Amino acid sequence: MLQYLSQEQVIHLDIAAPEKLPEGQSVYSTILDIFPSNIIEAMANNQMLAIVFFSILFGLALNKTNHLTGNLSESFEKLNTVFMQLVLMIMSYAPIGVFCLIGKFVITDGLDIFQEAFMYVVLLISVLIFHAIVTYSIFLKIFTNLSPLVFFKKMRETAIFAFSTSSSAATIPVTLKTVTTDLGVNKNIASFVIPVGATINMDGTAIMQGMATVFIAQMSGIDLSIFQYMQVVLLAVVASVGAAAVPSAGTITLVIILQQFGLPLEAIGIILAVDRILDMLRTSVNVTGDAAVACIVAHSESLLDKEIFDK
Ligand code: ASP
Repeated sequence: MLQYLSQEQVIHLDIAAPEKLPEGQSVYSTILDIFPSNIIEAMANNQMLAIVFFSILFGLALNKTNHLTGNLSESFEKLNTVFMQLVLMIMSYAPIGVFCLIGKFVITDGLDIFQEAFMYVVLLISVLIFHAIVTYSIFLKIFTNLSPLVFFKKMRETAIFAFSTSSSAATIPVTLKTVTTDLGVNKNIASFVIPVGATINMDGTAIMQGMATVFIAQMSGIDLSIFQYMQVVLLAVVASVGAAAVPSAGTITLVIILQQFGLPLEAIGIILAVDRILDMLRTSVNVTGDAAVACIVAHSESLLDKEIFDK
């Protein structure tokens, strides 16, 4: 079983957490929960998976009926800006919340909390780097037979830009330029794949959410079964799709997974305390993934200029 804190290392947080997670929630019912029978009820009951699913469907339908609905989609965009501002206003108080939560954990559990957090950071960084180098190289080799080395060399500046902004959305113009002028992806493919990828393809974020959930479960002294690990994977993928491409958004949708398992939400204080550097790194991974997918899609459509790629 995946256990990255040994029994002696596990410190049990002094927070209200269930002894064992409810067994009733099977993988099957988690999948069923994604499809709401009543969206108003889902919103009232905070069923985040159902809300994310409905929002995706709603967006698709809105897109298809744009010519009939006038500027309705623009109104949603404006509303989105207002909500983003709301989130930023609330998040500006996060340092105070994190300070208080960490202070409480240190008083009740001692300084060991920092050792745990350090292990989480080191392990997550290793997994993110492994994923970026190994997974993308294998995918590029299998689906396009392009050189991963050339790909990573040309992606260097874009990855650094993503690292410094912590936002896949802010990096879109740089990613677009790199994939079209340096990697030889056709403009039409790039202008579709990159913005869509920046919004929904967040493998770095999904990895963080999965590991953070396991970390919090272990810190709370809760054993996850193999089915619950599978649920964590599924939920992390959906929650990462629901995360906005802005700094720290992944930690906000992490709440979806913790809620689903009944894990203590205040443990997010520890995750937030060490999230700065992790956010920077996972954004680079997210953006590199978008570019790799753009190459694969362009290659499958014979719209990748190999001469530009190899130049
Ligand atoms: N900052 C990430 C991005 O923009 C999202 C996150 O994981 O917080 O890709």
